[in-house]
Amino acid sequence: MTFNSTLNLIQTYEAGKPIELVVREFGIDPKEIIKLASNENPLGASPKAIESIVKNATNAHLYPDDSMFALKEGLSKHYQVNPKEIIIGAGSDQIIEFCIHAKANENSKVLMAKTTFAMYEIYSKMVGATIIKAQSQFHNLEEFLELYQTHKPSIIFLCVPNNPLGECLGKKEIFDFLGKIDSETLVIIDGAYQEYAKAKDTSKAIDPKELIQSFPNAIYLGTFSKAYGLGGMRVGYGIAKEDIIQALLKVRPPFNITTPSLAAAIEALKDQEHIHQTTQNNLEQMKLYEDYANSKGISYIPSYGNFITYLFENPLNSTLIADYLLKKGMIIRNLASYGLNAIRITIGTKSQNQRFFTLFDEFLGQ
Ligand SMILES: *Cc1c(COP(=O)(O)O)cnc(C)c1O
Repeated sequence: MTFNSTLNLIQTYEAGKPIELVVREFGIDPKEIIKLASNENPLGASPKAIESIVKNATNAHLYPDDSMFALKEGLSKHYQVNPKEIIIGAGSDQIIEFCIHAKANENSKVLMAKTTFAMYEIYSKMVGATIIKAQSQFHNLEEFLELYQTHKPSIIFLCVPNNPLGECLGKKEIFDFLGKIDSETLVIIDGAYQEYAKAKDTSKAIDPKELIQSFPNAIYLGTFSKAYGLGGMRVGYGIAKEDIIQALLKVRPPFNITTPSLAAAIEALKDQEHIHQTTQNNLEQMKLYEDYANSKGISYIPSYGNFITYLFENPLNSTLIADYLLKKGMIIRNLASYGLNAIRITIGTKSQNQRFFTLFDEFLGQ
């Protein structure tokens, strides 16, 4: 059977390996497996969020509240924006998809960094749009500006902090850049790791309210999958001026968020103490990964997220390392598919991280 020719250009997204796969392939006890591959919160979700998932199970036969009133109210209070300036998606992934469907087509160009979140490219290619990639290793807004002037893209993606590398543009440089972009270009500020970036360096904090008031062509994306620890529940959100939200709502399927997911997100948002603990653990443990890399002469990218990228040089090889760790029950992300001899490790709990250092020592010693 033939399919849309746009699919020929798309490489199927390879998600972090699930624990179940390691159980099946290597026969390792699931309790022994440590997954530091998908930037999940190693402390889990707020206990209150988990409680609300269980409570809402009795409503399984009813469709969810499609207006998502309570979650929008919560986000509206949290960010001091109008509920009409909020859209909820099944992960912020889905908001990325909405943006592309609402704004791009086969005549459009989409501008993004060379090494960034893979879904920007995949969704853009689905609609036949042309991808323009900046060539600098990290987000370089001077280069972005030149490419913007040359290509006039319909959409620009900025990932702050950037996944999978971990670098992070500052608020001031982003705002200066936005000041030079015309009002017809949709600029997507992906803040999936903003909670972590803010905790490390306040000059990286993007306030969505200030963003959209200053730049009505910008949309801020947030997610409950990372610091909020709800990756399995699939909830993300977009914050933008009402005309953008109205357009995105036209491409949203009804009932895209389940009742337990909505309830979990509402409770998780209220538990800011849990976010504080999460970001503190991350900062402390990140330091150990930096110290470890320094002690072994391995280079790494200073990270503003909850992960760190180690860059290797011959004879160290990221695929051999990832395979070695996998056989020992530890899942990390090999960045070979990005053309890099590098791995990305999600910062785990203290004991998970100690296990990583032990296994890495073992690998180096063989
Ligand atoms: C994880 C991630 C997302 C969204 O994840 P969802 O689970 O779909 O909310 C978006 N952008 C980046 C850069 C991410 O790393």
